[in-house]
Amino acid sequence: MSASTPHYVIDLPPVTGLPVAGTEALFPVRRVYCIGRNYAAHAIEMGHDPDREDPFFFQKNPDNLTTADTFPYPPKTEDVHHEAEVAVMLKSGGTNIPVEQALDHVFGYAVALDMTRRDLQALQKKLGRPWEISKAFEGSAPVGPIHPASAIGHPTEGRITLTVNDALRQDADLNQMIWKVPEQIACLSEYYELAAGDVILSGTPAGVGPVQRGDVVEVTVDGLGALRVAVV
Ligand code: MN
Repeated sequence: MSASTPHYVIDLPPVTGLPVAGTEALFPVRRVYCIGRNYAAHAIEMGHDPDREDPFFFQKNPDNLTTADTFPYPPKTEDVHHEAEVAVMLKSGGTNIPVEQALDHVFGYAVALDMTRRDLQALQKKLGRPWEISKAFEGSAPVGPIHPASAIGHPTEGRITLTVNDALRQDADLNQMIWKVPEQIACLSEYYELAAGDVILSGTPAGVGPVQRGDVVEVTVDGLGALRVAVV
């Protein structure tokens, strides 16, 4: 061990590593950004005018991402909602990234869920407080295998669906995003220094709603496969 090897006073926390289709190697997660109200019909169902909003973002914690096939119903809530989303994984980053160069930083894409304690979110909004406790909790971001852009390209359209116990709840097309993935990356990079390992949850279409223990939630996105999670 060299003199420059750092020593830590406690064991190093584990890195969140996500599976990548076609390889045994994992994608290590650095940060998780999420965009809000990025499909017009969802903005409307949440009581907002989709035409007047600049993109806005919140964060989850890296270790909120999970590949478990179960979603433990979280504490301190009685209204957990599903949000079907596409996750975008970055292989590089920077600041002030031009829209035209944004996709150069994308490693790949995956199906994901942005699980939300909706009752807590509504309360935080009402009180003018941050959303974290409604969004950044244990197991709140189930994610499927990552499909590298080198294999599938950069999906700009395709059906995204979510079923609960085989009943269709969300059904839209990726081309309905208000702010497209390159615009999300460019905008985020004006506020943050993006880097390899960052993950962006690109927003959910209309049809969000509650889940209960015993439900099975399945998200599908054309070209990205399916993510199936049992609520326990
Ligand atoms: Mn969301």
